[in-house]
Amino acid sequence: MIPKKRVAILGSTGSIGRSALKTLRMHPDLFQLTVLSAHSNVDLLEAQARRFEPRLVVMSNPDAASVLANRLRGLDIEVAGGEERLAQAASLPDLDMTLCGIGGRAGMIPTFEAARAGIDIAFVNKEALALSGELLIKTAAQSGARILPVDSEMSAVFQCLESVQNREDVDRLALTASGGPFRTTPRERFKEITPEQALNHPNWDMGAKVTIDSATLMNKGFEAIEARWLFDVDLDRIDVVVHPQSIVHSYVELKDGSVLAQMGLPDMRVPIQYALTYPRHLPSGVGRMRLAEIGSLTFEPPDVERFPCLRLAYEAGKAGGTMPAALSGADEAAVDAFLNKKIRFDQIPTLLSEAMRRHDSIASPTLKEALAADEWAKEEVRSLMEGVV
Ligand code: MG
Repeated sequence: MIPKKRVAILGSTGSIGRSALKTLRMHPDLFQLTVLSAHSNVDLLEAQARRFEPRLVVMSNPDAASVLANRLRGLDIEVAGGEERLAQAASLPDLDMTLCGIGGRAGMIPTFEAARAGIDIAFVNKEALALSGELLIKTAAQSGARILPVDSEMSAVFQCLESVQNREDVDRLALTASGGPFRTTPRERFKEITPEQALNHPNWDMGAKVTIDSATLMNKGFEAIEARWLFDVDLDRIDVVVHPQSIVHSYVELKDGSVLAQMGLPDMRVPIQYALTYPRHLPSGVGRMRLAEIGSLTFEPPDVERFPCLRLAYEAGKAGGTMPAALSGADEAAVDAFLNKKIRFDQIPTLLSEAMRRHDSIASPTLKEALAADEWAKEEVRSLMEGVV
């Protein structure tokens, strides 16, 4: 009998975390859920803890942790609170894999802790690669931690590359983008876009930050940076192709002109499960893709005039140093401001561009320097907003 994989699911009440738990429920013989964590959703975390009976449950909000500890009293489950305990929980020595479904800076520290400890990472946190890609890849390589991408596009490229014997034969990567809800919206209407409209993604069901990033195409820009580090391919050789049906999840072009694509229905359960069950493609509960019913697949180049965030991400990625970290921090603050109706949709790229212009990039940053750049950019956007609004 194969021993069960001992897994930590951090951010288990979020969209990725909940999907990951579905996989664990589908394959109870394969996984032992060891750690669960959430920020402050006590009700859902309590239900998950009762269902899976992990050894440790962490809430990054200490007040929420005390409430949960009371509710779980009498069960053989340790309840801990605070960011530090969360970071420790990601790297417990007996873990086989950590999935950190926490976005932004909050998810970076646990991801790095797992990488340092040599624990395989089901990789979600694209900001971690934008912020400090070089360092994270190096850290994982040194400890022997494997990085298994959860993102559908990264999973697609990862799967395509598995069948390429010689990496020198890879010519280019192409990341597909659905184009988001405003693919055909004229530019002059962008200033009227509301958070409600932007949160209504046509194909993918995701968290709020990444859904807004998809609507601006910033998400695709971060993915290009992510792919640059995950697959060690220069940004000059990574394309973005708009594909509204989201059936082709990305593809790899080889030097002989051959193209390998990975396809499937757009359902996050598949890439999330593949990261967890790698290298097995086990039943996921997702229905069959029937191309004859889908009929046609279309592709078009992205419009960087209407979606300047994509261009900004490439610029930041090529500039390197702390520039991507600054962009990531600026974007977090700008998206937050948009969601809270403090700025308009079309002001997001304006703010990001200005924050990048003002940023003094440091080459080959340490994690601390990258986090400082991220923090600086958030502050910069907040003070810029006073001028813009
Ligand atoms: Mg994606």
